[in-house]
Amino acid sequence: MTDAPRVRLKAGREKPARDGHPWVFSGAVERVLGDPGPGALVRVEDPAGRFLGWGHYSPVSQIRVRVLERHEERVPDAAWLRGRIGEAVARRAPLPGEPEGACRLVFSEADLLPGLVVDRYAGWLVVQLLTAGMDRLRGTIVDALRDLLAPAGILERGDDGHRGLEGLPPAGGLLAGSAPPGPVAIRDGRLRFAVDLGAGQKTGFYLDQRENRPAVAALAPGRRVLDAFCYTGAFAAHAAAAGAASLLLLDSSAEALRVAEGNLAANGLAGTPRETRCADAFGELRRLRDQGRLFDLVVLDPPKLAPTRAKAQQAARAYKDANLFAMRLLAPDGILATFSCSGGVDAAFFREIVRWAAIDAGREVQVVRALGASPDHPVRIAFPESEYLTGLLLRVL
Ligand code: SAH
Repeated sequence: MTDAPRVRLKAGREKPARDGHPWVFSGAVERVLGDPGPGALVRVEDPAGRFLGWGHYSPVSQIRVRVLERHEERVPDAAWLRGRIGEAVARRAPLPGEPEGACRLVFSEADLLPGLVVDRYAGWLVVQLLTAGMDRLRGTIVDALRDLLAPAGILERGDDGHRGLEGLPPAGGLLAGSAPPGPVAIRDGRLRFAVDLGAGQKTGFYLDQRENRPAVAALAPGRRVLDAFCYTGAFAAHAAAAGAASLLLLDSSAEALRVAEGNLAANGLAGTPRETRCADAFGELRRLRDQGRLFDLVVLDPPKLAPTRAKAQQAARAYKDANLFAMRLLAPDGILATFSCSGGVDAAFFREIVRWAAIDAGREVQVVRALGASPDHPVRIAFPESEYLTGLLLRVL
């Protein structure tokens, strides 16, 4: 591999790579020796030519190289890739062994596999190939997953723009085996949910919220619950199963609300008094207040409002407004489970935003518990960007 193209870093710009951060930005590159194409394996080196890591090159992304491996003798070839996928899968042990288990098996940079996401939904796997490097390795990845897990089928899903930044066309479709005949039934805690692997959001289901749903549901008995940005109603269903007095499901997607209704029924929860509203949640939260409605538990789980740190200030306003409106809808000592899945908003900043909302709402707020993503979405210390989901379970006095 001595003939691999080399990416030499500028003096003073090698520290992140040396410290183990997997991203090399274009501005840190002094020069490229050789002619790497999109997704090529390159040797990242310091200004003196000393090895820093093997990585995947992208000629178009601001993230010019994603470092895969920091040991020079472990050259990332097909066997290396199989090994690393196998290690990520093994770290999920004990795998939800039940046939309807669902979890993330590979989480990109956090699992030392930048650009590769693999989620398991019962017998099927859903793969996202988010970088030019991983896109090129599609065949090797599919072979490795078949050998390791023998799935009924492997599907590919697009993403919210990552591929575009790498100069890749949108992706999607069946990569191996057979597609599920319809929505796939998965188990999330005590409940079952139908997941549309072809058309649902993300790879179909918000697996990262798995452990937060029972935490919120534990506080739901007897409470009037508002599930805002509910998607297919997973928080609402867990709350209903725990004995919530009533549910209001709010989302801008009519299809998500339709699936949510089916999920409640499939879990024998259709008897819980409920309402669904298909609307923009920011406006609807205000309208509910104008209508004099009160709730005892509000879940606020908006989509990613700040994909990057640069957009964080702008997003902070939207997060603050949503939290302010939610606090105003809460009866005394009501519970607010509030989340941000924006990589650009870290836990400290999110707590600060919630503090601003509490000031404007004129309410005292206690943190009952800090929340994050489930352990199948690990946070890699060297890569703070992997801590994208942050949440607070609050009591609003
Ligand atoms: N809480 C859900 C996941 C929420 S994902 C779960 O546990 O599964 C975010 C949801 O917000 C999506 O369902 C999306 O349709 C919805 N959404 C996006 N923008 C919205 C808006 N302005 N108003 C209401 N819903 C919105």
